[in-house]
Amino acid sequence: MQPITNIIPLLKDPRNVVIVMHQKPDADAMGSSLGLYHVLHALEHRVTVISPTNWAEWLAWMPGAEKVLDYELNTGKSNELLAAADWIFCLDFNVLHRTRKMNDSIASARGTRILIDHHQQPQKEVFTYGISDTSKSSASEMVFDFIESAGQGNRINKAVAECLYAGVMTDTGSFRFSSASASVHRMVAVLKDTGLDHSRVHENLFDNYLENRLRFIGHALLNRMEVLYEYNTAVISIPWKDLVKYQIRTGDTEGLVNYPLTIQGIKFAALIIDRDEEIKCSFRSKGGFDVNQFARDYFEGGGHHNAAGGRSSETLDQTLQRFRDSLKENALQLQ
Ligand code: 5GP
Ligand code: MN
Repeated sequence: MQPITNIIPLLKDPRNVVIVMHQKPDADAMGSSLGLYHVLHALEHRVTVISPTNWAEWLAWMPGAEKVLDYELNTGKSNELLAAADWIFCLDFNVLHRTRKMNDSIASARGTRILIDHHQQPQKEVFTYGISDTSKSSASEMVFDFIESAGQGNRINKAVAECLYAGVMTDTGSFRFSSASASVHRMVAVLKDTGLDHSRVHENLFDNYLENRLRFIGHALLNRMEVLYEYNTAVISIPWKDLVKYQIRTGDTEGLVNYPLTIQGIKFAALIIDRDEEIKCSFRSKGGFDVNQFARDYFEGGGHHNAAGGRSSETLDQTLQRFRDSLKENALQLQ
């Protein structure tokens, strides 16, 4: 993988560009993709953003979101665009299988694959150019750095700023995690200078749910959470029937995994959801416990040191049991 800065001299010639993010995109995946979209579009490239799946309604306010293609709903057109692309930017993921059904079309495309990502252990052999930096707060911060290093900082207008701010703010837990570096805060200062209304972005993202989502959170915390003090761990497990009963939509479970970490002494939180087509797991930790390694070892996943995800093809009960067994094997690390 060559450094991404090697493509900077090539930016002046308009190309067919596709920007891809991970399935069920979060605000960083969507924000980094749309931030880059606006700048490449201004540079007269022909750009399309494709998401492997649908996304939360609370991302729909982002400038440009209305133009994003949902691969599952536009498979034919998306495959044509991928096949015709000169460049395929891959943002906020680093292994092609995180694009689910798009995996094969991206892998077989003739275009040059370019990575911008901050997760661990990238699949480096599939990218010609790229940057992979786990010290970065977010893909949105990396897109900002890329735009600046390309000498295109003047293209960062209010629309770009809203997209990138949404990504960096959510991935840093509202500037709380250690990844919220001095350079992150300097970037936010630049974004503010474009006229960015950051309070509005917070409201769009966090104050935009329906009543049933809040009732669901109450139910999950009251009835579906198990606290295992001997492992300083808490796990929330959600059966499919709860998702149906509370009419849970894409994005409604975002953030739920963080609640157990607010209990004094709890260092490791897990959320295991039966999504019917698969069991989806989310892991969060505070301090030394490495949930990226844990997700790789037990749940076919990965992510970051303190935030990772994975899946299971067993039943919810079997998955929960395997989770409890895995705690025994990690008892020492969890003290
Ligand atoms: P979440 O729990 O919010 O789905 O994901 C937490 C973090 O782990 C995110 O940075 C996400 O990109 C990453 N992640 C989630 N699921 C997977 C997975 O199955 N594989 C890998 N490699 N990373 C994941
Ligand atoms: Mn991210």
